[in-house]
Amino acid sequence: MIGSTLADKIARRIRAEGPLSVAAYMAMALHDPELGYYATRQPIGASGDFVTAPEISQVFGELIGLWCALVWEQIGRPDPVVLAELGPGSGALAADLLRGAAALPEFRRAIRLHFVEVSSILRAEQQRRLAMADPVWLTRVEDLPDGPLLLVANEFLDALPLRQLVRGCRHWAERLVAVDPDGRFTFADGIENPALSLLVPQTLRDAAPPGAVFEICPPALALAAMLGVRLKHRPGAALLIDYGRFPSAIGSSLGAVVRHQPVDALISPGTADLSADVDFAAFAQAARAAGAAVWGPVPQGRFLEELGAVQRLAALSARASPAQRQQLESGVERLLDPRKMGTLFKVLALTTLGLPSPPGFNRSDWMQ
Ligand code: SAH
Repeated sequence: MIGSTLADKIARRIRAEGPLSVAAYMAMALHDPELGYYATRQPIGASGDFVTAPEISQVFGELIGLWCALVWEQIGRPDPVVLAELGPGSGALAADLLRGAAALPEFRRAIRLHFVEVSSILRAEQQRRLAMADPVWLTRVEDLPDGPLLLVANEFLDALPLRQLVRGCRHWAERLVAVDPDGRFTFADGIENPALSLLVPQTLRDAAPPGAVFEICPPALALAAMLGVRLKHRPGAALLIDYGRFPSAIGSSLGAVVRHQPVDALISPGTADLSADVDFAAFAQAARAAGAAVWGPVPQGRFLEELGAVQRLAALSARASPAQRQQLESGVERLLDPRKMGTLFKVLALTTLGLPSPPGFNRSDWMQ
């Protein structure tokens, strides 16, 4: 009998075409139009598979709204301004951001909200939450309207399909996903190829031992280059928040979670969230080469503290019941604490060249 799960569909493709790159496997697991992870479920929140910063505390989105308002002033208060969020999830960040932005009514009025989102399930949730803000939905960043831009993305880059290269005896090879004789998915190495070696930064290329893995994320690098070009020609800024590496490093970080527990990334594709560390150094380099100024990455805890997380918490707590106060405090602590999300998550900003340091960053965070 021909199975009807996504695992069966991927296995059939591998038997017909040969092993898939990790990126092709990840793209099918996450985005197969009928059976892919994002096409079939609402993954975020306590009842889903993972929890993100905007779900933990409203302070996160409110401070990002403040950040956007301050950068809008730095770029000369353009009206209208495109405010884009990539992968808005439940819409919590955007809702809190707009509330934060309302502190500056001219800014709030100038905002033209755009969401880049592939999941129709999450689009419906965003629609419910943000109908009053009249967002425009797109599937591709390239389709954002021209003009001044403020863009934010939290835990978006880590969900983009990435390639894994593996060090062979002489050169590097593509790491592939194959099917073993028992029908299980397994990693396999492609053919060593000197051209693939060139994709690994020189400092890591020769020092890595055989079997070492290096990850590259072509869609993230394409996004960085596109934003770099855009910010070179139009005023604006982008704020990217994620967990990841700086500098680039060796090691597989591809991981899968179901209901907040790590699982094997090759078991039951389509039912687990797949993600990987963001290579902030590679992203920053691509954006800078394309013409943007790059700031950071800085630890999320430091960034939020500089924007006034502690003061915002105090203001909210003053009006809260004891139970609410406890929840507010533990949420903000989780975002700031270096042992929790405070240093694991990093914040990178791209701006048009020549602007002052964006809020939360110092002159010394500028990547020359
Ligand atoms: N930013 C949200 C959600 C993070 S989950 C939060 O912090 O809670 C990743 C989000 O990116 C989801 O909304 C998912 O549907 C979306 N997404 C993943 N890959 C995408 C792609 N290639 N293009 C557009 N959206 C994508």
